[in-house]
Amino acid sequence: MISQSMKPLVNGNSAVRVMFEEGNRLAKLYGRENVYDFSLGNPNVPAPDCVNQAIIDVLKEEDSVMVHGYMSNAGFSDTREAVASSLNRRFGTSFGERNILMISGAADGLNAVFKSILDPGDEVVTFAPYFLEYKNYVGNYGGVLVEVAPDTTTFQPDLDGLRAKITEKTRGVLINNPHNPTGVVYSEETIRGMAAVMKEKEKEYGHAIYLISDEPYRELVYDGAKVPFVTKYYEDTIVVYSFSKSLSLPGERIGYVVIPDEADDAESLFTAATIANRVLGHVNAPSLMQRMLIRCIDAEVNLEAYDKNRKLLYEGLTECGFTCVKPEGAFYLFVKSPVEDENQFCEAAKKYNILFVPGRSFACPGYVRIAYCVSYDTIKNSLPGFRRLAEEYHLTK
Ligand code: PLP
Repeated sequence: MISQSMKPLVNGNSAVRVMFEEGNRLAKLYGRENVYDFSLGNPNVPAPDCVNQAIIDVLKEEDSVMVHGYMSNAGFSDTREAVASSLNRRFGTSFGERNILMISGAADGLNAVFKSILDPGDEVVTFAPYFLEYKNYVGNYGGVLVEVAPDTTTFQPDLDGLRAKITEKTRGVLINNPHNPTGVVYSEETIRGMAAVMKEKEKEYGHAIYLISDEPYRELVYDGAKVPFVTKYYEDTIVVYSFSKSLSLPGERIGYVVIPDEADDAESLFTAATIANRVLGHVNAPSLMQRMLIRCIDAEVNLEAYDKNRKLLYEGLTECGFTCVKPEGAFYLFVKSPVEDENQFCEAAKKYNILFVPGRSFACPGYVRIAYCVSYDTIKNSLPGFRRLAEEYHLTK
């Protein structure tokens, strides 16, 4: 018999995954090229060549026992040093190995952080819409995820809403920048404002409130948008980074957590997160990926491909009369549903073999998420279907 705590998760399986399976079903019926599956955030741009080459070189050139062996739970020293130096070069920080914990992707990093800072009943505040797994990650440790309602005109965080939701029990504020599912990038001004509210609340309650910044999309930005490096604005910051999207390696499970010296109880927090990573069953981040990173820490994926997709889809949909905030980052469009119940809109789109995900899967009903990490042709060939959908809802101008 399965545990009581797993039952709601089994019954409420992810809508993103359900849509993905639906895509596979339709592909069998109509052929893969005739199905326009915008459901999953799985990068379609390949990992940079230097990443694949580095993996081959590590296997050829490095000691096989070491490459495949256990290492310190926090990761290889030289990998952590390489990550720290890269951040210092790019953001003018002064991190060392002591600040960097290697993890198996952002999902692992967030879990290690929440296990380290939460006791049952503690709260973490986040802004709707949000990646729905956050609820599970916080719930894993008896924590409660508290939502700030969305500002649907900009999808920037509502700072008055944040002020109202922080209580004596708040241990952290969780943000995601650039943002899934809206594609917005939180500006420097926003981060400064958020830091001011959090400092005020730390003073009021007399304990640290960590700003946890989940940044798997940090490198995926367009039109010259800048993602502020949050440790510079607020001392009690923890950054969770992943190479899943930035190097197109989601199956490899590699990323890092940054815990700056200035963060409250930094040393104990680092030790706790390292042990949490171990006892959660990850033991250490994948070794081969850590060795690869030393050789190509500053590698970049072909952003141009995502940017072309973004422009084609955004222009295609807005020309038909759909509305959405123009995304500046990640690879998602968050489009207003033409009917209140966006599930109906998702169902209507299936007639044209178009699949996307209801906004309620991100705690924001009335919208849908369209992931454009697909081929350019998929977007181009889907546009006539989107136009017919728009006509059905009398949106066309
Ligand atoms: N956070 C956000 C906002 C995401 O969109 C995702 C994956 O889609 C994750 C975390 C998990 O990323 P990872 O594959 O690094 O665990």
